[in-house]
Amino acid sequence: MNSSRPIVLCLSGLDPTGGAGIQADIEAMAAAGVHALPVVTALTVQDTRNVKRVEPVDLDLLSQQIDTVLADCRIEAVKIGLLGDAVQTRFLAATLATLTAPVICDPVLRAGGGLDLATEARIATLRDELLPRVTLLTPNAAEARRLTGSPDSDAAARRLLELGCKHVLVTGGDERGGDVVNSWHTVGAAPRRYHWPRLPETFHGAGCTLASAIAARLALGKPLEEAIEEGQRWTQQTLQTAIAIGHGRRVPNRPCR
Ligand code: PLP
Repeated sequence: MNSSRPIVLCLSGLDPTGGAGIQADIEAMAAAGVHALPVVTALTVQDTRNVKRVEPVDLDLLSQQIDTVLADCRIEAVKIGLLGDAVQTRFLAATLATLTAPVICDPVLRAGGGLDLATEARIATLRDELLPRVTLLTPNAAEARRLTGSPDSDAAARRLLELGCKHVLVTGGDERGGDVVNSWHTVGAAPRRYHWPRLPETFHGAGCTLASAIAARLALGKPLEEAIEEGQRWTQQTLQTAIAIGHGRRVPNRPCR
């Protein structure tokens, strides 16, 4: 029995369906043999169809939670999902400046069900202050376009690299058409495309699951290329076996070890 595990600091919203947010992070990490430090950024009201309400956690409480676990535990990566507001985003950017661990950020801007989860102030803070601290950003195509104002997702990814994040994986699950095409963009290299069969169902929590699966593999010491490839393959399996828990979209099946 191994008595230690790599640790990832996870900052995400609490989704009471358990499909997305911090539960997705914890399950994806546990399935990979990684321990999550779950710090909740916001409480939400939602079902498997859509988000109805988001209540950010008080900044003083959030910052004390982060300081306390960081003083105690050595982390191998940071995973960021939904942030409650611009103030939290700014605080987190300043905190990340003091850390050396890689940062995987899923810029949750809109719920799959349609509710807008980001104000213009949060988007601007994310773009101008958080992005330069991010190792890998995992927007879906619509998020990449919205963050940059670019109508083309490849151009948007290039702009995101210019704005300071090191790598961008634009996911195509929200686009129409044949295969789902995910594109990994890095400065100075041609984008690398990954093609996955588009499944007939729609899903709640796929983006959180993918970003966490990649973060977990980085925490295990895998090179980024391997983490990105394996994280996608594992996430695809969780979608192929996704569970119908309610009346809306299915949630990924993330069996824990
Ligand atoms: N709620 C929380 C807390 C989330 O983090 C996310 C997405 O990351 C969502 C809801 C929306 O998930 P989806 O767009 O997959 O339905």
